[in-house]
Amino acid sequence: MHRRIIAPGALAAASLLLAIPASAASYSPGAPGIGDPYYPYYGNGGYDVSHYDLRLQYQPKTDELQGTTTILAKTTQDLSSFDLDFLLDVSEVRVNGAKAAFTHSQQHELVITPKTPLAKGTPITVVVRYSGVPSTKTAYGFNSWHRTPDGAVAADEPEAAWWWFPSNDHPSDKATYDVSVAVPDGTQAISNGTLQATSSKLGWTRYSWRQNKPQATYLATLAIGKFDITTGTSDGGVPVINAYSKDLGDNDGAARASVERTGEIVDWLSNYFGPYPFSTAGGYVPNTTTGYALETQTRVYYSPKQFAKGANASVVVHELAHQWYGDDVSLKGWKDIWINEGFATYAQWLWSEHEGEGTTQELADYVYASHPADDPFWTVKPGDPGPDKQFDAAVYDRGALAIQALRKAVGDDAFFAILKGWPQEHAYGNASVADFERYAEQVSGKPLASLFDTWLFQPSKPAAPAGGAASLAKASTKVAQPKSWKKIEAAHDGQEAAQEARGR
Ligand SMILES: [Zn+2]
Repeated sequence: MHRRIIAPGALAAASLLLAIPASAASYSPGAPGIGDPYYPYYGNGGYDVSHYDLRLQYQPKTDELQGTTTILAKTTQDLSSFDLDFLLDVSEVRVNGAKAAFTHSQQHELVITPKTPLAKGTPITVVVRYSGVPSTKTAYGFNSWHRTPDGAVAADEPEAAWWWFPSNDHPSDKATYDVSVAVPDGTQAISNGTLQATSSKLGWTRYSWRQNKPQATYLATLAIGKFDITTGTSDGGVPVINAYSKDLGDNDGAARASVERTGEIVDWLSNYFGPYPFSTAGGYVPNTTTGYALETQTRVYYSPKQFAKGANASVVVHELAHQWYGDDVSLKGWKDIWINEGFATYAQWLWSEHEGEGTTQELADYVYASHPADDPFWTVKPGDPGPDKQFDAAVYDRGALAIQALRKAVGDDAFFAILKGWPQEHAYGNASVADFERYAEQVSGKPLASLFDTWLFQPSKPAAPAGGAASLAKASTKVAQPKSWKKIEAAHDGQEAAQEARGR
């Protein structure tokens, strides 16, 4: 992608270029997208971020957010300019200390032109000063900043960052975070990781959070409001920090009865997935009107509606399973969503069996039998569902069914070795569905291409069930709904609604 301008007729103009190093002609703009075919403008080309430092102030009354984000990155090509993804109003950008030119373009691109071009492999520090009212900013016609009566929340998938910090917004560029937010006294600011410090001055309290392990941009979260914060430590030694809006009304008890089990569930999941990968665990329940939950790293986001029908430990299992499958090992591209959702759903199946509310096989049989061959459910390919079907029920339910099929094909010993080995194999990194296939073949010693093709990539109902009785293949066979089913489904019902709200 290097643009060389070598035009002999332009020699006269060459004198105008004398201020630019001779090699500068090979410098080109970084791509406005990182190369994800599902979302062509998400993320950016030409650099790799290692750390985000956010120092912000937020006024809940007016939804005004202001502050500075400092980004540490390294260039991966010769750059004349590069993009960040961001929607708020920028007042100044500096690159390596020098003021840089900037302009907004496309739906959410902030195009930055540094004073001098940047050679490949250069460490860069980008400082962006900004302010704005996030609830007034839209891209593609939607807004992911959720206002609440006493504040706001940033927690959404696949995009939430544009409304509160400039970033390379794609899960393939993970980084560590320091998030420091000043809010009026009496209000709290919740984010990922550990609370490093709080300080109060002139009516404002500053909360400083640190995520010391790599984190995808969509897993960074911020909640501002009046919260009750609880702390503890799991039997396995994992510190837990949870937060509940003081405004949860009748959902308060069920929310606490679910999320307060975080430590217990983290320890239980560690038996299957290996040691918990982060410095803290926890969740928060703000007073939003949204309906979904999201695996925001170390501090899971739960909508109060998740608990409107009573406590649901199953959704807590789902989101905490993501801490290994999704957060520790993140997807390479959004087409790899099965790596996240198939496994988080399968963790719910394991929990169901643990609770005596239906075995994994009963759940697999139920999913298989309850969708006839002509059900559009089977046209969704969990291994590459397309952006419109990325959060379709089939990605979750057929996705978990594929995992049961794998288990039956390789046997329990190999299966549980794969389940536990995968987070170690790609710790704090990124991986694709193809990487998982290779890993499962390597650990089990079995050829699995045809199995994965059948369960993840064919737009049709597999002829034989995943380990269940052959009679399941008959259209007339009915399977009783396992007791755990409705709570399992609740974990992704809200996510589908959220995607529909965006017009997907
Ligand atoms: Zn999920």
